[in-house]
Amino acid sequence: MEEQSKRTLAYLCPSCHQSVAVERTVFQLAAAANELPCPCGKSALRVEMMGDRVRLTVPCLSCGRDHTVTCSTQAFLHQKVLAFSCAQSGLDCCYVGEEGPVFAALQRLEAAADKLERAEGEEKGAFLDELVMHEVLSELKEIAQRDGISCTCGSHRWKLQVNYSSIDLFCADCGAAMRIPAATDNDIDDICCKTKLVIRGKKEG
Ligand SMILES: [Zn+2]
Ligand SMILES: [Zn+2]
Ligand SMILES: [Zn+2]
Repeated sequence: MEEQSKRTLAYLCPSCHQSVAVERTVFQLAAAANELPCPCGKSALRVEMMGDRVRLTVPCLSCGRDHTVTCSTQAFLHQKVLAFSCAQSGLDCCYVGEEGPVFAALQRLEAAADKLERAEGEEKGAFLDELVMHEVLSELKEIAQRDGISCTCGSHRWKLQVNYSSIDLFCADCGAAMRIPAATDNDIDDICCKTKLVIRGKKEG
């Protein structure tokens, strides 16, 4: 018998700053609206399945507000890892997916959130981490020089937007976007081993 499939959901509690990760079976998630509270009792992630869409209400550590996000039920139940991010800070606020990838993503988010907290005491710079941003940008430039940036629509023309803790690449032809995190040392390692970047735009033809 196949094991009943499970999903791991995770977020960072804005109240006690701990990471909260819970496992739910697909059956539990589908049966009723789920409230997944932090052990401190001061915040909770809310999940409602509504036919082919899922709505999540996520307490956000970086901006202190709740974010309501939706995704398709298909992605919610089957994608390896889904990341939802805070529009204000550019950092992720919630992950859903398989246990391993969710915990890996959560660990990285914790590191970025730690930095954010430390940075709050000091004068705020243009970036979360100047050095990381500098390194990621220069790696990006190298990939670009080899014409390594393209879009699945066939385009090799792109635009770049630098954010506080990430870089967005946009396809100049179809407008598709790709986010490259630039918050922690892991993000440098990730881009260092890449020789090309493919924006997932419209399919060719
Ligand atoms: Zn808490
Ligand atoms: Zn937020
Ligand atoms: Zn494109």
